[in-house]
Amino acid sequence: MLRSWWQALQARREDAAVARREIPPDLWKRTLVRYPFLRRQQAEDAAELLRLTRLFLDRKEFTAAGGLRLNDAMVVAIAAQAVLPVLRIGLQAYDGFVGIVVHPGQVLARREVPDEDGLVHAYDEVLAGEAMEGGPVMLSWQDVRAAGRMASQGYNVVIHEFAHVLDMQDGLADGVPLLPAGISRTEWLQVLQTEYETFVLAVEAAEASPEDHPAPALYPYGASAIEEFFAVSSEAFFASPDLLQSAHPALYTLFSRYYRQNPAADMPPARSSRRRGTGSAGPQANGPLGG
Ligand SMILES: [Zn+2]
Repeated sequence: MLRSWWQALQARREDAAVARREIPPDLWKRTLVRYPFLRRQQAEDAAELLRLTRLFLDRKEFTAAGGLRLNDAMVVAIAAQAVLPVLRIGLQAYDGFVGIVVHPGQVLARREVPDEDGLVHAYDEVLAGEAMEGGPVMLSWQDVRAAGRMASQGYNVVIHEFAHVLDMQDGLADGVPLLPAGISRTEWLQVLQTEYETFVLAVEAAEASPEDHPAPALYPYGASAIEEFFAVSSEAFFASPDLLQSAHPALYTLFSRYYRQNPAADMPPARSSRRRGTGSAGPQANGPLGG
């Protein structure tokens, strides 16, 4: 009784928030053209993506940094990509943070790591995005904008960072998000760890002798830590599901149970004509970093 009253109140609040954040239909249409992996075959999925995007815009705060000017198209593009992973999980998975900071391009972050002798080594890391527990989520607009063009390579900075947000929901960035009742931590780690170790070996082999070993399907950055592997393979799961399904079928199956989506089937079939405009791949995708 109490629960249904509470649920009804929440539903009314959500409806009001969604109504407040109307997205002009032509802007939404342009967003789906620019980022085709957002399209959903089923009408109810497409409607839910739009509803969650509007709700996300109501709940989160966007801040521009580095002289960037944010417009509606930019915040809608970020919001729509951010909610894709939680289409079935629900937006409450992102309740732990509010702020999103958008920079014009990649950001240099000063890192300091102590070595075995206690000496601190400082270096600069180039970040396309960063997620911290409690937020904010930082994104490079240049990389967000490239997501449509680079989807076939499984690259997506927004999904990468929001996969980290999901991973950190339990307080730990360890590649294990809050799991549904049907997936145990043991099962999750068995699959993720095995796929990760296979991937690390493939990256090492390709680096050692590129002539004899094909480049792995996923970004090599995923070999840097298991939590990065979770984020990198989640990018591919949504941006280029066929790529992940053929390279890491067990991981694809595990992710489809966790995200409760099957993007390889949920996306409408790709159009036969190539993108208008340049026709070729555009600027070289030169090892973008996930952060
Ligand atoms: Zn990362």
